[in-house]
Amino acid sequence: MIVCGAGIAGLAHACAVALQGRRVVALERAPELREVGAGLQVAPNGGRVLDALGVHPPSLESEAVHLIDGPSARPVLRMPLGPGFRLVHRADLIAALRDAAVAAGVDLRLGQAVVGIDPAGAVTTEAGMLHAPRIVGADGVRGLARRTVAPDHPSRFTGQVAWRAVVPCPDDWPREAQVRMGPGRHLVIYPLPGGRLNLVGVEERAQWAEEGWSHRDDPGAFLRAFRGFGYVVRRLLERVEEVHLWGLMDHGVTPAWRDGAVTLIGDAAHPTLPFLAQGANLALEDAWTLARSDDPAAWEAMRRPRVERALAAAAANARNYHLGGAARLGAHAALRAVGAVAPSAMGRRYRWLYDYDPISER
Ligand SMILES: Cc1cc2nc3c(=O)[nH]c(=O)nc-3n(C[C@H](O)[C@H](O)[C@H](O)COP(=O)(O)OP(=O)(O)OC[C@H]3O[C@@H](n4cnc5c(N)ncnc54)[C@H](O)[C@@H]3O)c2cc1C
Repeated sequence: MIVCGAGIAGLAHACAVALQGRRVVALERAPELREVGAGLQVAPNGGRVLDALGVHPPSLESEAVHLIDGPSARPVLRMPLGPGFRLVHRADLIAALRDAAVAAGVDLRLGQAVVGIDPAGAVTTEAGMLHAPRIVGADGVRGLARRTVAPDHPSRFTGQVAWRAVVPCPDDWPREAQVRMGPGRHLVIYPLPGGRLNLVGVEERAQWAEEGWSHRDDPGAFLRAFRGFGYVVRRLLERVEEVHLWGLMDHGVTPAWRDGAVTLIGDAAHPTLPFLAQGANLALEDAWTLARSDDPAAWEAMRRPRVERALAAAAANARNYHLGGAARLGAHAALRAVGAVAPSAMGRRYRWLYDYDPISER
């Protein structure tokens, strides 16, 4: 088997396949596996796959998701989480997946960009051509695999950009994911192992002119976007030394996930907007369940409804987080009322998502 792309989906899938004693080559264009400084929330559904692979990056347990009104800094709703919600650094997760994959016997080839994919069962890199009866496209939202399987399905800019940065964590910062919401923007803040604090700021914008979908930005631009969010946020953003800006692209769930020998997984199959923190978790689910399946068509039929439901839930959050004016006041008042009577009621809405166990999937 050939896996194109060694991100979270590709490494996890290659590892799961190799653990079954099968031969797998993973091709990654980057000369080394480095990650932009940023955090990741791993929910129980994705965490079960990491446990099954024996992958244990340093992590903190997240105790709650805390919705806060951005401009006034008033709490709106604190939703306690059960066990199994981990906060990790992407670089730590990638390193742990790489180590597990190599230990399991994956032939990981770095610095090998895939330049051609033939659904008849061949992959071309600058080093030559490889043949395999199964090819897995895990090269992300802008990858060649998606363009090969679904060439007529371009992605579009969603009208939202996301800054990602890591700053030192103040003492006694709560172990929770805070979502600070304001008109047309929101800021997610959570701690990471090693005394770091992860910041993800999303802002609505008319245009995204960059060729790529991520680039370094001026920390001052991040600060200016959230200057109306009060003293605590301002103090955090003043500490940002390096920040990346992402244009959030979307094309919905890719209409076809398979063509001949090729099957897409992870963001190549379903780029997931970050408003439910599920992109990497769904990628882990894909990675494990496809490795356990002999029939990619049956696998796709099993996966599609769940993935579509998760993407729809993420899109709904984007709208709810960015409300302005009377709609914002009304929605926050309703959520506070829920929090007063049944603080865990909102969390129960997502049990279908987090309670899912990909390991027992047949
Ligand atoms: C702001 C933001 C915050 C997020 N927060 C979360 C979160 O908290 N929790 C969560 O679950 N998800 C989160 N996500 C989503 C998550 O990051 C992605 O869903 C996940 O990284 C997808 O993994 P992947 O392996 O499918 O793709 P990618 O991470 O894109 O990996 C693709 C790999 O393929 C390689 N590649 C590309 N082209 C080629 C080629 N031609 N040849 C060889 N290799 C190639 C790339 O170099 C890369 O290593 C967030 C996303 C964003 C933008």
